[in-house]
Amino acid sequence: MRPSITALLRRASEQWQRTRPVHPDTDAALKRRWHDLPDAARTDAQLLGRRTVGCEGTHGVFPRCNLACTPCYHAKEAQRVRTDGDHTVAQVDAQMGYLRSVRGTGQHAQLIGGEVSLLSAEDHARTLEVMRAHGRKPISMTHGDFDYHYLQSLALRPDGGRRFASLRMAGHFDSLMLGRRAVPRPQGEGELHGERRRFVAMFERLAAEHSVAFDLAHNMTVTPGNVGEVAEVTRAVMGMGYGMASFQPAAHVGNPARWREDYRPLDIDAVWEQIEAGAGTQLPWAHLQMGDPRCNRSAYGLIADGRWFAWLEDRDARDLRARDLFLAAFGGTDFDRPPVVRTAAILRVASRHPAIVPAAAGWALRFTRRVGLRRLLRGRPRAMTFVVHAFMDADVVRPAWEAMQRGEVAEDPETRAAQERLQACSYVMAHPQENRTVPACVQHSVLDPEENTELLQLLPMHAGA
Ligand code: SF4
Repeated sequence: MRPSITALLRRASEQWQRTRPVHPDTDAALKRRWHDLPDAARTDAQLLGRRTVGCEGTHGVFPRCNLACTPCYHAKEAQRVRTDGDHTVAQVDAQMGYLRSVRGTGQHAQLIGGEVSLLSAEDHARTLEVMRAHGRKPISMTHGDFDYHYLQSLALRPDGGRRFASLRMAGHFDSLMLGRRAVPRPQGEGELHGERRRFVAMFERLAAEHSVAFDLAHNMTVTPGNVGEVAEVTRAVMGMGYGMASFQPAAHVGNPARWREDYRPLDIDAVWEQIEAGAGTQLPWAHLQMGDPRCNRSAYGLIADGRWFAWLEDRDARDLRARDLFLAAFGGTDFDRPPVVRTAAILRVASRHPAIVPAAAGWALRFTRRVGLRRLLRGRPRAMTFVVHAFMDADVVRPAWEAMQRGEVAEDPETRAAQERLQACSYVMAHPQENRTVPACVQHSVLDPEENTELLQLLPMHAGA
């Protein structure tokens, strides 16, 4: 039987919707985010409100961890809360559903709390499915101290079929973490390189045996005690198969008993210099900014033949012009789609913004010249991003947030600076019952202690937990 005209039209309309570059809800959320940014953040380099509405994270789900970090961002009650799969799935469902309703689709969402691998593989997988169902791109934040069997059980269904075509995880490795099975008390970052590599190797095995693709980030907390080793870690991680190396200068947040060293704030510049020393090149960042530069710094590029190259040359006006055209034309277009759908979406954008075609061709030519054709073809190129995310201290966040809640702009310069950063925040957590999102700094500094006390009542540890 031949399909009716109505059925054909409906199918054509569905395909048209699928290849839409930006979902209307996402477009509306981007516009709102841009509107809400402080004036100083609305620059040509700004990605918030133009390319993305920012990252998201879960909270109040599984605060317990089985390693000990010094420092630890979690309130001291966290360790006495039971990790519970059903609670996690229900909370994540509510939080992600809310985020979908106010922030559109296709945003990066961290499955984060204490240690995610304390969830059973089945519960972990159910949670990722819930996040995807709400149009999020989940990444599981872990210390990575689990075995291949756990990863395999996460990626596959009980019948052995593939549950996920790809997985994204961020492995947190640094010498401030105590209790890792292979290296319980690392004396330096170098002692953890084997564990950093073992983490990637598990995913490589999963890809080889079950065709599950992966995208991995490496996280490291930085304190005055290990800042001198950031260059070495950068150098090592670049050769291990991670797609992102992210460094977080430690903020004074969480369990005060977990600070064993003198506290001294770390300058974001000092961390960045170390990363550049490890990468062996300058890492331009100011031309692509996520939120406030006091919070975030990112350098986006590619590694080929062991060398890193920025996608955009910040001192080349033609590259900056290409950036402007790209952001104006593609906006929040999601490129993580099946190849045919992605190509159709790109063609739709190009037909509306034809100037993007020669700009893209010119950029591709310049980039190829910079990297070298031989290196691009033979150097096993892959994308690599460097990030520093500098959380704020709790004693700065609290007064800034409380004043914001009263609608006040602080007069004290330090508090006002914190308010500006919170206003330009690129990493939020959802509170569906209160119909709001809050910056992760506020969550950890202000809301976590009370939330964990409530979780303690709801999910007390029981014997064997
Ligand atoms: S969570 Fe805090 S440090 Fe991070 S972007 Fe938001 S305000 Fe800045």
